Amino acid sequence: MKDDRIPRATVKRLPLYYRHLNILSDQGKSRISSKELSEIVKIDSATIRKDFSYFGELGRKGYGYDIQKLIQFFRKILDQDEVAKVALIGVGNLGKALLNYNFIKNDNMRIDLAFDTNKQKIGHSIGNVHIYALDELEKTLKESGIQVAILTVPASASQQVADRLVDSGIEGILNFTPVRLNVPDTVQVHSIDLAVELQTLNYFLKNKS
Ligand code: ATP
Repeated sequence: MKDDRIPRATVKRLPLYYRHLNILSDQGKSRISSKELSEIVKIDSATIRKDFSYFGELGRKGYGYDIQKLIQFFRKILDQDEVAKVALIGVGNLGKALLNYNFIKNDNMRIDLAFDTNKQKIGHSIGNVHIYALDELEKTLKESGIQVAILTVPASASQQVADRLVDSGIEGILNFTPVRLNVPDTVQVHSIDLAVELQTLNYFLKNKS
């Protein structure tokens, strides 16, 4: 389901709502008010109500939101019925950690393939994920139909690998390198630079008013 009327900021919050609604459901809760949810996800309740309003009548005044109904609805929007298969490029320290983590607690996404240039790593598996030679990137990715890749190569290799990912049909890149990647408009890049995140956090700690 894709609806251009739904703001990007709202769409970005949906996975967070979805994750916490599932936790609440596992705890046996069946309904929740926007105020309660607000305390859990740390987003103000007016924003939550506004976000949910884009999806029609999901709650009732004085009753709150039906958690199962929300989960089913968001699952459809987020395409959670299908397992999202992901490729990981660069099995260094961070790549290895992600392969071992492999979203085990989320049964709807999974790193399926990994690639590296290091001969000592190629042919081995980490957490059941086989490591292929980078030479096999285009062929293997095209055959797999995978659309999302995690990039954990050294910064110096990142643009070159990104170009090859685009040529292999990848439509989304989760970029853990500090390089701002150049890709066509049709490809989405989300960048996570852990050093920058920590520096920002540190700045705010030191400049608390
Ligand atoms: P390690 O010491 O285990 O290599 P690291 O995180 O310090 O870990 P990096 O230099 O950041 O290593 O490289 C990350 C991984 O990316 C390594 O496994 C490296 O072999 C691999 N790599 C380097 N260049 C490329 C490339 N062009 N394509 C794919 N993988 C690459």
